[in-house]
Amino acid sequence: ASKFQKPEHTRVVAVTNQKGGVGKTTTAVNMAAALALNGMRVLLVDADAQGNASTGLGISPQEERNDVYEVFKGEARLEDVLIQLEDIPNLYVAPSSITLAAVDFELGQVPGRYSILRDAIRETMDSFAAQGKAFDFVFIDCPPSMALLPVSALVAADEVLVPIQAEFYALQGVAQLVQTVEDVRSSRNEKLHISAFIVTMVDTRTNLAKDVSEEVRSHFGDRVLHTEIPRSVAAAEAPSFGKSVLTHDPRNRAAIAYLAAAKEFSALS
Ligand code: ADP
Ligand code: MG
Repeated sequence: ASKFQKPEHTRVVAVTNQKGGVGKTTTAVNMAAALALNGMRVLLVDADAQGNASTGLGISPQEERNDVYEVFKGEARLEDVLIQLEDIPNLYVAPSSITLAAVDFELGQVPGRYSILRDAIRETMDSFAAQGKAFDFVFIDCPPSMALLPVSALVAADEVLVPIQAEFYALQGVAQLVQTVEDVRSSRNEKLHISAFIVTMVDTRTNLAKDVSEEVRSHFGDRVLHTEIPRSVAAAEAPSFGKSVLTHDPRNRAAIAYLAAAKEFSALS
């Protein structure tokens, strides 16, 4: 099998879809883990107040610890809130917790609020690069809305990875997402583009999953990763052990699929 491809420049990827429960967090965590376990240096930014990417990697909320909330408020530098994972040393996590839910309201009309995350990520990337530890990938796990946090992620990112759940309403809302990406591209971030769609939670026993996959492919063609992620109990359980599915149960089919998807993703552009 070919190796994972190291990008020439850091690829900053927003994992987004305004629908909840489609596999954004699972995809962000496991793509990040798969790349980091294969020699890539990866930063995962949890931009969801649910904090699922954080707790799912064993980082439980602690009131006294600064996280992405303080970064948005200008009270901490992103670099200073990073946690390096013991079982995946190439993966750094910027954790979040429920306090992040307040930023929409607290930053209300503050000018420049949409660029805070971008500037924080750039500063961290520069600092790591200066220490000879440049990141290969930055993943931003987004909440299911198009409010301050996910738009901040689109301003910060170069590319968008869109998880699509293999279910009947799979494409609902995706047209709006495509439009939002267009809007952010034309107003704030000319590099932004949707680099890939990934079909998640595929139940291989049903025709529905096959139909959805075909529909997504007829809409988005080559941009849909060939690798699809099967539904698996281990994928759903791994977060409760504070682990990616790749470290929780590496031989599980969802783990193997995320590994293949990450390799495919690393070969894009
Ligand atoms: P989102 O971040 O879009 O809300 P999640 O990644 O949290 O979605 O996934 C929603 C739910 O589905 C979670 O409970 C998660 O554990 C579960 N899930 C995600 N992917 C899989 C999978 N491949 N197999 C089984 N369960 C999954
Ligand atoms: Mg999520």
